Amino acid sequence: MTDLLITNARPYGEEAVDLLVRDGVVTEIGSDLGAADGVEVLDADGAVLLPGFVDLHTHLREPGGEESETIETGSRAAARGGYTAVFAMPNTDPVADTAVVVEHVRRRGEEVGLVDVHPVGAVTVGLEGVKMAELGTMARSRARVRMFSDDGRCVHDPVLMRRALEYASALDVVIAQHAEDHRLTVGAQAHEGVVASRLGLAGWPATAEETIVARDCALAREAGAALHVCHVSSARTVEVLRAAKAQGVRVSAEVTPHHLLLTDAAIAGYDPVNKVNPPLRTGEDTKAMRAALAEGVIDVVGTDHAPHAAQYKDTEWAAAKPGMLGLETALSVVVHTMVEPGLLDWRGVARVLSERPAEIAGLPDHGRPIAEGEPATFALVDPDAVWTVRGTALQSKATNTPFEGMRLPAAVTATVLRGRITMRNGEVQA
Ligand SMILES: [Zn+2]
Repeated sequence: MTDLLITNARPYGEEAVDLLVRDGVVTEIGSDLGAADGVEVLDADGAVLLPGFVDLHTHLREPGGEESETIETGSRAAARGGYTAVFAMPNTDPVADTAVVVEHVRRRGEEVGLVDVHPVGAVTVGLEGVKMAELGTMARSRARVRMFSDDGRCVHDPVLMRRALEYASALDVVIAQHAEDHRLTVGAQAHEGVVASRLGLAGWPATAEETIVARDCALAREAGAALHVCHVSSARTVEVLRAAKAQGVRVSAEVTPHHLLLTDAAIAGYDPVNKVNPPLRTGEDTKAMRAALAEGVIDVVGTDHAPHAAQYKDTEWAAAKPGMLGLETALSVVVHTMVEPGLLDWRGVARVLSERPAEIAGLPDHGRPIAEGEPATFALVDPDAVWTVRGTALQSKATNTPFEGMRLPAAVTATVLRGRITMRNGEVQA
């Protein structure tokens, strides 16, 4: 492998340094290191150097949904967004509920080679919520599954959820719950509130999320298991999480970039690009998401990157599939909602986009400190850049970004995975 010299980079936004990388590992950090012959040079030009981002919640759509995204196009989007590891949700066709499917996803990710693709296994067979999938077989397979979820659906049966948590505890893996009591959301189309009433859309109450999180925290405590709550959207869920954490429950939580920035005001024009599960909620909820992320009650940002081919979105509201793109805009949205208002500094950004997600999922070689002897797995960020989001200009195969036309601050300028440049100046290095 070629050696790499990264010059003029500011780790966590601090003093500029040079970093020498050999065999994927940082061997020296100093000033004016200079490159020997044959060493590739990456001039960071004063960019902020962070550990490569880790997304616990990505939909890559392959197998079965290749018209919306493939492992290759999703990997390109991830590299473009500064990600070096992503967790691919199992709601594919076939569902990732066997060793065969998770091993396929893992192998395809390795072939593409732009980002570490970790398959998430289904908790129940076919995501049907009836019979538990073979968690142990998937965990022990070549794909080494560390996280299980029926994302898109809630593991609703409390007996099944209790057993899944007991297995997870024994296997030392994580159950990631899509917290939604489906009986409270039958026919629901938008956050239950004034906007939904005005638009004549059936309401989706925040209690559908809060009640499941409360229940699962109690079950996780009893099982001594690690529970991860997907895409928290409600202010009152934060209070449930705060209480559970104070009692020592092993619970972690994520918030999406769109729940940090957008409210249900965005759905006023019935544009299905803004249809998402859980729905966009109120300004009070958005405020609570930001405060909880700053405080650490919500641990991480998970993109819930959900690409959809045009035919699933260019349709009436009720028929459109829920979901939004996320990988290529996440850093900018975090800067806009968290760094600009002073809620997080660059160390905080590293924590929520890289360190904590790697810790939660048990990845030993991601989210590591920027130091000699550590893996050269990085994202470089130009904090002064401003760019306009264009869905058609993104690496993802789909274009369903809710931030279309929005001007956002900060841009990821390069991504490095174990010493190999996967993206440079906006260009993915395939
Ligand atoms: Zn999802």
